[in-house]
Amino acid sequence: GAGEETETFKYESDISRLRSLVIHSLYSHKDVFLREVISNANDALEKLRLTSLTDRDVLSAGEPNITITVDLDEGGKTGKLVIRDTGIGMNKTELARNLGTIARSGTNEFLKRADDAGGADSNLIGQFGLGFYSCFLVSPVVRVSSLPPATAEHPDPVQHTFVSTASGDTFEVFADPRGNTLGRGTEIVLDIGDEDQQFLSTSNLKALIDKHSTFSTTFPIYIRERKAQTPKAEVKDEDEEFDDVPADDEEDEDEFTWVRVNDQAPIWMRDPKSVSKEEYIEFYKAVAKDQTQEPLGWTHFKGDTQSGVSFRSIMFIPPVLEKDFWSKITSGLNNVRLMVKRVFITDDLGEQYMPRWLSFLKVTVDADDLPLNVSRETLQNSRFLKQLQRILVRKAIDLFSKLAADDKEKYKQVSTLYGNALRIGMMESQKDKIKIAKLLRFESTRSPFTSLEEYVENRKEGQTQIYYIAGVGETTQALARSPFVEKLKARGYEILLLNLPSDEPMMGTLNNFMGMQAQDVSKKGLKYGDEDEDEAEKKELAAQNIAYAPLLKWLKKELEGQVSDVVLTNRLVTSPCTIVVDSMGWSANMARLMAAQAE
Ligand code: ADP
Ligand code: MG
Repeated sequence: GAGEETETFKYESDISRLRSLVIHSLYSHKDVFLREVISNANDALEKLRLTSLTDRDVLSAGEPNITITVDLDEGGKTGKLVIRDTGIGMNKTELARNLGTIARSGTNEFLKRADDAGGADSNLIGQFGLGFYSCFLVSPVVRVSSLPPATAEHPDPVQHTFVSTASGDTFEVFADPRGNTLGRGTEIVLDIGDEDQQFLSTSNLKALIDKHSTFSTTFPIYIRERKAQTPKAEVKDEDEEFDDVPADDEEDEDEFTWVRVNDQAPIWMRDPKSVSKEEYIEFYKAVAKDQTQEPLGWTHFKGDTQSGVSFRSIMFIPPVLEKDFWSKITSGLNNVRLMVKRVFITDDLGEQYMPRWLSFLKVTVDADDLPLNVSRETLQNSRFLKQLQRILVRKAIDLFSKLAADDKEKYKQVSTLYGNALRIGMMESQKDKIKIAKLLRFESTRSPFTSLEEYVENRKEGQTQIYYIAGVGETTQALARSPFVEKLKARGYEILLLNLPSDEPMMGTLNNFMGMQAQDVSKKGLKYGDEDEDEAEKKELAAQNIAYAPLLKWLKKELEGQVSDVVLTNRLVTSPCTIVVDSMGWSANMARLMAAQAE
């Protein structure tokens, strides 16, 4: 409480390094500070909302509003820019820990990546959660005051202040001498230097918020600006009505007014016809926390579940496979954000929203009719989630199909990135098996990029099998040279050349695609469609069987216990012999895969 001593902390050495790295490498992108501060305010408001689900009092005590405000002290005359939120706040320990002492888990990784890249960029900083340090880009001294909500456990929280200079290697935390000036939440005061005057202009700040923050923040952001002098502008202001407008300070009530910045409906609530391509791309960048890449495709739709809940959604195909995708896939990725009436609820229900094989998609879902205080437990058991998942899967399949039809180049990228995931999807979903099979692309002896539908179209008359050869990690050229392929190719058949780990198990489950069966050309069971044309060949084989009977007999004896049979074949052209796997047995390739897994 009051009278408490100021405590001085030393930054950990890594944090010192990080701070100076952030400050130096972002020098030409100073304006990211506003995006990062608002993103933290947004996080703090989301945390408050989540807490309020189990502890209703946190909302009512002290501060009824859930807002972010941007304020230029005395219209900017003092050079102070103040950003406040009424979010979850930080107590003394949290101020010290979150803003200064603990090197977070990603720190080492970040330093390594920054070293590799010869500096950090604004992207890395957002992804690794170092946003707060960008405040030092525009302010030599950063002051953060914070007050957590009163709870049953801590009924009398005390507002504390954190102060640090950009260059120092220490920071201070003390009880705020002003007392609890905030109703709840956090206030950041920046001393904008002379060289950064652009951040002291309301219109510049509004433009920046518009550009970077409207997509990621659905909580209202207000900025305080001088009241318009011209009657024309005043007329425009008249029909703008906002609830939760922060109270004006009494002394400048006449001169200044709060204006909401992000007053447009969030992009997913708008009519898709009114949203431009650029807006979708900007939204993707905000969702992915990656400013450098554009999505491969997206779909924006309204869904109605049978349980009566309707929702709106935007679904993106990311242009890169998330780092550690294959290891995170089982523990769950936080790629579906569920909102209820514009309010963020959760992004960690994992497979409940999306089957694993589609968990790379970045999806925003905003449901209209769920009770706002719905808890995770009720959600998990609700029929809504099951029905939602069904609709999302259908929309995802439509999205891929459309992209495949409209933009072959983009679809090639999709196949390269997500080919394995789609194959797993085909194996795991009985319902959508054929639809997903149609999304798969392969290299074949006829084409570098073909689909099963095309394969069927190009089949030879009488052909009843889809021929393939599989070899994980082998090149398709090597596969094409295989003796198994030779004979078929010579007879004019197309063979799929498969080298993904998921190819062979996937083909194993494809027992009926448009009336055809998948057939590994290295296994027994191979049927030609043109057998009738080969009567002569059959006769010859019969004759040769008699001629070679002694050799076959001798080979069988020599190889006893190692092979189950030795037979003559007409399947080879230049190779003298080959080992064939029984059609019911594991192929050599599968055996290798399983052996590797067992290790
Ligand atoms: P990140 O947001 O990715 O965690 P930052 O450097 O932006 O990284 O913020 C560091 C931490 O400081 C946050 O995780 C949060 O705990 C705390 N913090 C920052 N700003 C606020 C705020 N406005 N309200 C509450 N906590 C905050
Ligand atoms: Mg942050």
